Amino acid sequence: MTDDTDIQQLDDDTVARIAAGEVVERPASAVKELVENSLDADASRVEVDVEEGGTELIRVADDGDGMNDADLRAAVRQHTTSKIAGLEDLEAGVRTLGFRGEALHTIGSVSRMTIRSRPRDADSAGTELVYDGGDVVSVEPAGCPEGTVVEVEDLFYNTPARRKFLKTTATEFAHVNRIVTRYALANPDVAVSLTHDGREVFATTGQGDLQASILAVYGREVASSMIAVEADAETDDLPPGPLESVTGLVSHPETNRSSREYVATYVNGRAVTADAIREGIMSAYDTQLGGDRYPFVALFLEVPGDVVDVNVHPRKREVRFDDDDAVRRQVAAAVESALLEHGLLRSRAPRG
Ligand code: ADP
Ligand code: MG
Repeated sequence: MTDDTDIQQLDDDTVARIAAGEVVERPASAVKELVENSLDADASRVEVDVEEGGTELIRVADDGDGMNDADLRAAVRQHTTSKIAGLEDLEAGVRTLGFRGEALHTIGSVSRMTIRSRPRDADSAGTELVYDGGDVVSVEPAGCPEGTVVEVEDLFYNTPARRKFLKTTATEFAHVNRIVTRYALANPDVAVSLTHDGREVFATTGQGDLQASILAVYGREVASSMIAVEADAETDDLPPGPLESVTGLVSHPETNRSSREYVATYVNGRAVTADAIREGIMSAYDTQLGGDRYPFVALFLEVPGDVVDVNVHPRKREVRFDDDDAVRRQVAAAVESALLEHGLLRSRAPRG
């Protein structure tokens, strides 16, 4: 035996920063994790403020459940979550957006992070936890409203290679905007706002109306061209398949863009992309859209828990179904009947 080897155990800091690079690629991925946490905490208001595309500052404030000082200390440790207790819970299907217990820890290990939080209905004051590059700097009582505010400053300050790969402020902000928009549309009953360098980008009302949310994020022209899709497997004639319902809004074919960016699709409330869903939508529009043109879409699919794998990697939004063809036909039928009802398609023989 010899102990002459170049293979060494990495120290914890290095491991944490490598892992962080996978969960948090850019400011938008930190924004995504923080907004998901606010929604999981049953917030009715989520305010997102970023500076310099999120590279200087990301602040996400909510009025959700909040955390006490013990919760806060636990929340920033690795693999700590209040959302599942073990594998059984995963198998049973998770409705929360997070469950891996790694976001706060990893974001905190590549930034200077401050969390102020106060539990709902608690007599106690709130707590402020300061975290720097993975270390708890202080945990102190702090007066603050119910809910949670997470501030992430100087993202990637201690991982210069990653910082170097960030794109321009405009590009990084575009990613942030897309993420916050996606969650705003998925949660019309939550007032979601976004500011960039102090300027308001959009603010939804939280009144529970998807149409109103579309108006807030995309403006009047797009909002006025949206058509309701409402197909339920029980009451409407959806073709056979795993989908229990397909509901939401799609745009008049004349309101289109050259990017898929505005095709927002959700399965059981989770923002996902899937070829089957997109192809179903596009086939419904048939020849009404020119090549490489896409409608505005906010479409919500409900499926039984075991049909899609929710245990998707945090970065991967792509999902697959056991029966992609059936999903494609069901989505196409739902969107098609909405367009037909508005006289936006010539009626056709049912597809085989
Ligand atoms: P996960 O979301 O996968 O559980 P996170 O690292 O994102 O892991 O968060 C760890 C825990 O901290 C959560 O399970 C939750 O209990 C708590 N937490 C995080 N953000 C908030 C928030 N905005 N409001 C209330 N609790 C939160
Ligand atoms: Mg989380």
